[in-house]
Amino acid sequence: MFTQSQLQEIKNLLLPENKVVIITHYNPDGDAIGSSLGLKHFLKALGLEPIVIVPNDFPKFLKWMPEAKKTIIADYKRKMASDAIKDADVIFCLDFNAYNRIGIVGDWLANATAKKILIDHHQQPEDFDFVYSDVTIPATCQMIYHFIEALGKEDLVNQNIAECLYTGIMTDTGGFRFRSTSATTHRIVANLIEKGADPAMITSNTWDTNTVSRLHLLSLILGRIELVKDGKVAILYLKRDELKEFGFEKGDTEGFVNYGLSIAGTKMSAFFMEDLYEDFIKISFRSKDDVDTNAFARAHFNGGGHINASGGKYFKNIHETIEDFKEKIEEEEF
Ligand code: 5GP
Ligand code: MN
Repeated sequence: MFTQSQLQEIKNLLLPENKVVIITHYNPDGDAIGSSLGLKHFLKALGLEPIVIVPNDFPKFLKWMPEAKKTIIADYKRKMASDAIKDADVIFCLDFNAYNRIGIVGDWLANATAKKILIDHHQQPEDFDFVYSDVTIPATCQMIYHFIEALGKEDLVNQNIAECLYTGIMTDTGGFRFRSTSATTHRIVANLIEKGADPAMITSNTWDTNTVSRLHLLSLILGRIELVKDGKVAILYLKRDELKEFGFEKGDTEGFVNYGLSIAGTKMSAFFMEDLYEDFIKISFRSKDDVDTNAFARAHFNGGGHINASGGKYFKNIHETIEDFKEKIEEEEF
């Protein structure tokens, strides 16, 4: 958590006359959107009018969240987004910690004169004016709740805030399953339910939204899962023409990588996907226990993330990428 004196400074910045912008990472997920909108609704309860900016569009299954549709998507509204960042007095940076995780928005952020406040749970944060970074917490949404507690403003948590924060905790813990899910996480979630978050509604809006095309894509990749490294590593992939054939929409492949980890004996799953427009391979890694995918992604695949969930990009074709991966993974000790 921020120190007491930092909290005091932050309180002094959170005045209704100050312009506040909230930014989150490229390809926003449930925790990114949940924490940004959760904080937005909290700041509104304090009398501010914050603006949420995301680098690019996010999936439909996150657009039910209160005020999700008022989010400024920098890809579509470049000028509006860059002006807001330039004019801001305070910028909250949520669920990312490196300027290169927010695309073009990173350049605007670097040039902004605003005070920059980071709240995030990824490893190795870069430079911000105020940093609340904790890699042991499963979701940035949980950290937003701790931040509200630290400001002594828990009584302001309303249904909008509760729904947003619940969503991000649910998605980033894989439905309250991943290792960093703690008793504290559950206590906070219980509070959020008391404040109006409805678990059945949120689960249904976020997760029970499969399209037939998504299920067809899933069946395609499940049908060709490959195991390497004595069954400890699962490999999944999708090609661009397959994405096109099934009418791929943003978010359609969310969670596919987890199926590799559901196989008994696997310790790591890797999902390779050709980008729809540009010539690179988007990679997702997931792992169990102490298999460090963050270090692996940083070392070999231009990426990073958390120990058990990370991603990267690679600039060869999909077959070469998978061959390189197989070579590198055999050299790892686990
Ligand atoms: P996903 O596989 O869901 O895209 O990403 C999983 C995690 O890895 C997220 O926490 C995300 O922030 C991180 N991540 C994904 N892609 C990249 C990347 O290209 N670079 C870095 N540094 N982190 C990434
Ligand atoms: Mn997160």
